[in-house]
This record gives sequence, C-alpha cells and structure tokens, in this order.
Amino acid sequence: MKLVLFGPPGSGKGTQASLMKERMNIAHISTGDLFRKNIKEGTELGVLAKSYIEKGQLVPDEVTINMLKDRLSQGDCKNGYILDGFPRNLNQAVALEGITEIDRAILIDQKYDVIIPRLAGRRVCKACGDTTNIKWPEYTPICPKCNIPYVQRDDDKEEVIKARLADYEKQTTPLIDFYKKRDQLSVVNASTEIEETYKQVEEALGKYKSTKSVFSK
Ligand code: AMP
Repeated sequence: MKLVLFGPPGSGKGTQASLMKERMNIAHISTGDLFRKNIKEGTELGVLAKSYIEKGQLVPDEVTINMLKDRLSQGDCKNGYILDGFPRNLNQAVALEGITEIDRAILIDQKYDVIIPRLAGRRVCKACGDTTNIKWPEYTPICPKCNIPYVQRDDDKEEVIKARLADYEKQTTPLIDFYKKRDQLSVVNASTEIEETYKQVEEALGKYKSTKSVFSK
C-alpha cells in the first residue's frame, strides 16, 4: 500500500499515520519530521528548512522532493508507506506521480476552529518526539519517558499557525480535486476520538480494496 495522508496542520494526520504504521506494518514518512531531524542535527538542509518552517512557510519544492526521493529509496519502504505531509501542493503531487504510483490519498479533514486551539496547546518532547496537549486532563509538563519538559514547537505559536492554515488553504486544498479526478480520494472527517477516526480510515481503505477487486474481476 502506498498512501498519501493530507489535511490541515493539526487535523491529527500524524497520529493516524503512526497508528497505521504500527497496525499495517508500513513505513511512516513525515516530511515535517524529516526536516525537524535535519534541524536538530544541524545539517545544511536543516539550516535551510528552519528559515521557512519558523515563518510557517513551505520549504522549496526542489529541496523537499529530493529529500523525499532519498527517503523512499530506503529499505523499510519496500512493504509500502504512508506519506504524511507530502505532497503539499500540486507541483509536489505531479512530482510524486513521476516517482511512484500511489494507491490512495486520504484527506483527514478538520474544522479550523478546532485546529487553532489544539495546535496552540500542543507540546512536544524534543528527545522522543512524543506529543501532548495542555488542554488534556492527563497533561503533565514533563515527558514521563525522558524526564525533560515538553516544549512548544516554534511553528505552533498562534501567528505561525494562522500562516500555516492560510498556506494549506491556498496550496494544499487543490489536491482535493487533483486526487478526486484520479478517483483516488477518500475523505475522513477527523473526530476528537483517535480510534473513531482510525475506524473511518480503515473503512475508507476497505471500500477502496473491495472496489479494486470488483474492477479486477
Ligand atoms: P508538519 O510537521 O507536517 O506540520 O510540517 C512542519 C513544516 O515543515 C511545515 O509547516 C513546512 O514548513 C515544512 N514541510 C513539511 N512538509 C512539507 C512539504 N511537503 N513541502 C514543503 N514544506 C514542508
């Protein structure tokens, strides 16, 4: 299975992608995580990416596409993969078609008035990548695994969130028509319950598979 997961920042697509990786045994490739890893390691790519990410802007396509190509050539992608956060615009979607044929694109949709407070409250552990939220009843300021404080991502500051959403609206929403025209689109309306959303993802993939087998008869 080669899947694309897209949706507004904060819709929960990263969480769904992690669950899919665990339960479907396929690689989870998040271009955002790849950039953050490069930033942490202080690579040339990281320094360049940081200047865009902290303003809530997209990293230039050429850089992003090359990074993705490189990642897809690694062994763990053989069983299939979920692309989380790529493509993010039409140019990247066309480039992806030149690299591989995907099976399905799933839009994890969510209303902006749910997303903004959710992202603004998100905190991450810089060591293990775990995320939590100051609004959750179980929130603790210290990561229980690494024993260090959770921090706010620079791009989760409110003014940056607004820039990211504007960017999503302008650059990423055209992917809806792009994948619709190719009959590859499934839409999941993200519920606040993670498992409920996951069920919808499974249903979308189940429907797709049964349609495929009908067509292949
Ligand atoms: P994410 O963790 O997916 O929200 O990504 C964090 C940031 O990384 C985004 O706001 C962009 O600046 C950058 N980024 C991630 N994926 C892409 C992409 N496909 N194209 C360009 N920039 C990206």
